[in-house]
Amino acid sequence: MTKLKESIQILQACEDIKEFNLVFGTWGNISVLLEDNNILITPSGIPYDDMREEDLVICDMNGNVLHGNQKPSSELKMHVSIYKKRADVKAIVHTHSLYSSIASATLKEIPLLTEDLAMALGGPIKVTNYQTAGTKELADEVVEKLGSVNAVVLSNHGQTSVGPTLEDAVLSAVMCEKACMLYVKSLEISKSPRVLSEEEIHKMRDAYTTSYRKLREYRE
Ligand code: 13P
Ligand code: ZN
Repeated sequence: MTKLKESIQILQACEDIKEFNLVFGTWGNISVLLEDNNILITPSGIPYDDMREEDLVICDMNGNVLHGNQKPSSELKMHVSIYKKRADVKAIVHTHSLYSSIASATLKEIPLLTEDLAMALGGPIKVTNYQTAGTKELADEVVEKLGSVNAVVLSNHGQTSVGPTLEDAVLSAVMCEKACMLYVKSLEISKSPRVLSEEEIHKMRDAYTTSYRKLREYRE
């Protein structure tokens, strides 16, 4: 019952988020939705550096472990709830990255300042009300505040990003971190940095999904 292709993708994503400096210690987790609607997810508390294919866990949509020797991520409920609510989401990346964590303790919303953020994320990033890590209450908050965009900041915790592929979800996580960094740093210079309007964000997101995102597919 091993899913080699998806396991390799997750191990690659673990390396990628480390490379992008989104990782501190063992916190955070990654999952993909499999074709049979089960979830392949990283184990709880295992260092990213040392993650092996056999450490990944397969769970069903009720949170039952179907395959694997390790404990699944303690945020499994959050992953399940997102997949249940968002049919377009096939991969999730949760990190305790630096600027997302700063934003998570100081802001209610992170407006988007640049067009690349609008393209990748599709809307301003909301911050959840505080709920304890790993709980159903946090999962519900995350789903509500995520809405239809690609990233949400979890109060006093970190961020969760999503995408139609794992590559997209990693990109969403990188862009969420960038959005938080730009806004936090801009606030040091100006009390009211210029933010992109909703109309402009929609225009950019549309240009991304219909054209810009497709460019990388034409290379194969
Ligand atoms: P893991 O249980 O996946 O190691 O994650 C910890 C965490 O991010 C709690 O929110
Ligand atoms: Zn966490």
